[in-house]
Amino acid sequence: SLLQHPNILQTKQKLKLTAARLVNNHVNLAVTGLSGSGKTAFITSLVNQLIEANEAAHLPFFSVVRESRLIGVKRDIQPNLSFSRFAYEEAMAKLTQTSPEWPASTKGISQVRLKIKYKKSKGLSKYLTEDATLTLDITDYPGEWLLDLPLLDMDYAQWSKHCQGELSDPIRHDLATPFFNAVANLDLNARGDELALQKASELYTQYLIDCQSNGYQLLQPGRFILPGELSGAPVLHFFPITDLQLEQQGIDLNKPLKDSNAELLCRRFKHYKTEVVQPFYKDHFKGFDRQVVLVDCLSALNRGFHSYQDLQKALDWLMGSFQYGSSNILNRLFQPKIDKLVFAASKADHITPEQQTNLVKLLESMLHSVRKQIQFDGVSTESTAVSAIRASKSGLCQQNGESIPVLQGRNEQGAAITLFPGEVPQSCPGPEFWKQQKFEFPKLSPPPDEYTTCSASYQNGSSTRFFTRG
Ligand code: GDP
Repeated sequence: SLLQHPNILQTKQKLKLTAARLVNNHVNLAVTGLSGSGKTAFITSLVNQLIEANEAAHLPFFSVVRESRLIGVKRDIQPNLSFSRFAYEEAMAKLTQTSPEWPASTKGISQVRLKIKYKKSKGLSKYLTEDATLTLDITDYPGEWLLDLPLLDMDYAQWSKHCQGELSDPIRHDLATPFFNAVANLDLNARGDELALQKASELYTQYLIDCQSNGYQLLQPGRFILPGELSGAPVLHFFPITDLQLEQQGIDLNKPLKDSNAELLCRRFKHYKTEVVQPFYKDHFKGFDRQVVLVDCLSALNRGFHSYQDLQKALDWLMGSFQYGSSNILNRLFQPKIDKLVFAASKADHITPEQQTNLVKLLESMLHSVRKQIQFDGVSTESTAVSAIRASKSGLCQQNGESIPVLQGRNEQGAAITLFPGEVPQSCPGPEFWKQQKFEFPKLSPPPDEYTTCSASYQNGSSTRFFTRG
């Protein structure tokens, strides 16, 4: 925690900020991760654990709960009226109905505010019994939106080139066939045809959706997949064009014909950057001070080498948002203030407990190169594994005189299963491995009655004080 490591605070600005936060006792916690990484499940479970917090709460990283200092938690009126309300009640209804179902996944930005009343710890207060209130704002937003940050440093021509690189992957190229067919006949010098651009952009979006179903995660522009309130808006009606097309039609993207299709594409790309990407960072991201990034390593392993590699690439892009070096575009533009960043491998209830250390190592191997940079920039980071909603129980099974660890749960169809889901590798195996073997961590139905939050395995057995310093 920051109190334990005051040397982490390198700049005066950060010191001031922390002082203000200590006085206000207000934490802006953001939760993100790519689609399906478990954000909804995590926040639902976290809120539930806090609201119902009692001796049995599984929040080992929250010192107030761990040390039995929690007095009570209630949901409060949400501060930002332009955000959706995080659908906690709906999610709980799904999880607690007679045949429980997983709640609907994150589609845009939403928020929940909690007021947490607790007894101060000895360290911070002269009076052990003194009460304090912490306001905790939890914001949920798609990790895909962070994949757009690098766009801010690109113009339309550079972005198109980047996309060409992506599209040269044979599987992606195949999936893009309908899109390629639609743009092949588009006259880029002709007068801007909004309908034609809309149709082609819809096919480009469909291509991204198909990539997602095929296990790809570096899907960008982020709003094409998860448009939030922008669904159907012309600002999303653009797409990349190839060098070949530019050459064949004699187009210089620095000087496109006025009001031509090419110029319209350039304009829309620019508009997307200034009116969609920048405001997200300026109006929302800038306000977060704690960030959880959920990463679903297990599903990527299930889907194969290409999916794992793509997740790695997507994480590299995503983490650009947490590198605050002076040359970073984010720092130049918005001066964000996140000072604590937790990466969590989600859905750890899909594996037996003794594999959780490997899961954390696997996650760390993905984060390795970028993480060093983040630490250097003064953001404290940590990796862990969490199961937000425990859909399995672990135990031992005797086989041929040997005890093997197993999980019990229900598969997607609801049938009871007992299995050893397999070992988690400490780092991603090379392509050869995947030709002979695959991973099959099971999908589980939500549990019928109990569910527990964040029963995490912590790296080095340490636990963080994530929400408070008290
Ligand atoms: P989001 O897109 O990040 O909001 O992801 P969700 O929270 O909707 O999770 C996507 C799916 O992953 C869920 O429908 C569940 O099937 C699964 N899932 C998420 N969290 C957990 C968890 O803690 N345990 C288990 N067993 N499954 C989970």
